[in-house]
Amino acid sequence: MSILVYTESEQGKFKKHALEAASYAYEVAHKLGTTVTAISFNNEENDVLGTYGVNKVLQVSDDKLKTFNAKAYAQAVSQAASKEDARVIVLSSSTDSKYMAGLLAGMLKASYAPNVVAAPESTSPLVVKRTAFSNKGFALTQMDADVSIIGVSNNAYGLKENAVDATVEAFSPELKDGAFNVKSVEVDKVVGKATIADAEIVVSAGRGMKGPENWGMIEELADVLGAATACSKPVSDLGWRPHSEHVGQTGKPVASNLYIAIGISGAIQHLAGVSASKTKVVINNDPEAPFFKAADYGIVGDAFEVVPKLIEKLKEF
Ligand code: FAD
Repeated sequence: MSILVYTESEQGKFKKHALEAASYAYEVAHKLGTTVTAISFNNEENDVLGTYGVNKVLQVSDDKLKTFNAKAYAQAVSQAASKEDARVIVLSSSTDSKYMAGLLAGMLKASYAPNVVAAPESTSPLVVKRTAFSNKGFALTQMDADVSIIGVSNNAYGLKENAVDATVEAFSPELKDGAFNVKSVEVDKVVGKATIADAEIVVSAGRGMKGPENWGMIEELADVLGAATACSKPVSDLGWRPHSEHVGQTGKPVASNLYIAIGISGAIQHLAGVSASKTKVVINNDPEAPFFKAADYGIVGDAFEVVPKLIEKLKEF
């Protein structure tokens, strides 16, 4: 038996959170005295996987699987799990991985714990720590099914190098009819230097910015910090920013190391999606704004004065 990790790629490169999942899988394998097998789709960066402790790569090379398709990928991963006799499957907590994990859990009659934030508390029985109640608390979850699927929260466990030589094996899953129904794919426009899911730093702004014409300073701040840009729901609803930037309970989840919220009030639905970030900095001209209660650092001031000064100072470094 080995531990199977699903390693998500984008345009032929592994996503950072896929490598975090590999690092996590190595830790579980180490504790259980076994090894890690990865399944990778149309990606030949096998040395990278070896760096994060993967002993064997099942490499799927199939043009039909160039684009993520939850049904087809779940079939492939479940067949890989059976082939490797994997009792634990590790993946990230990206939207695509969560979508696929639900299908996979159904196929394998597996337990599934998403948003896992730390190495297992124990491996026999398998107990993992994950966020609960929209990131307001943590839950220890005991996984009792024969197969367990662990979704590692992005940016929580981190990248850990455990270099081994990875062997590579071609793998051709048998895909059933109905596995393909992707009609078109729209790639997110990446503003700033990183995508929201992978970013270490996210600069987010809300209705306090007054209008889309004022986002130049937000983009400049993100650029100086090498950050991704994000926004509150009303901002994307108003069409000031693309929907792909909407974060919160109904938008993308954020678990960055640093989250800077500018002109955002801190409504519960916004906080639900961003509070997993490690350090939160709030800039708001209303000292009573609820976000200050959830912030690690706060600046009470007008964003139109504070942000340009911040950019100026950061440029000195
Ligand atoms: P506002 O609440 O209008 O706040 C603007 C803030 O800017 C204020 O605090 C103000 O003091 C400050 N400000 C104004 N001028 C300045 C200035 N010059 N300098 C500095 N600060 C300034 N919202 C989300 O964001 N994400 C979600 O996923 C989400 N999901 C939702 C789901 C449901 C079912 C519902 C009902 C609501 C949801 N919302 C979500 C909406 C949420 O309730 C809030 O309405 C929203 O987050 C408010 O956005 P905001 O903070 O940008 O705007």
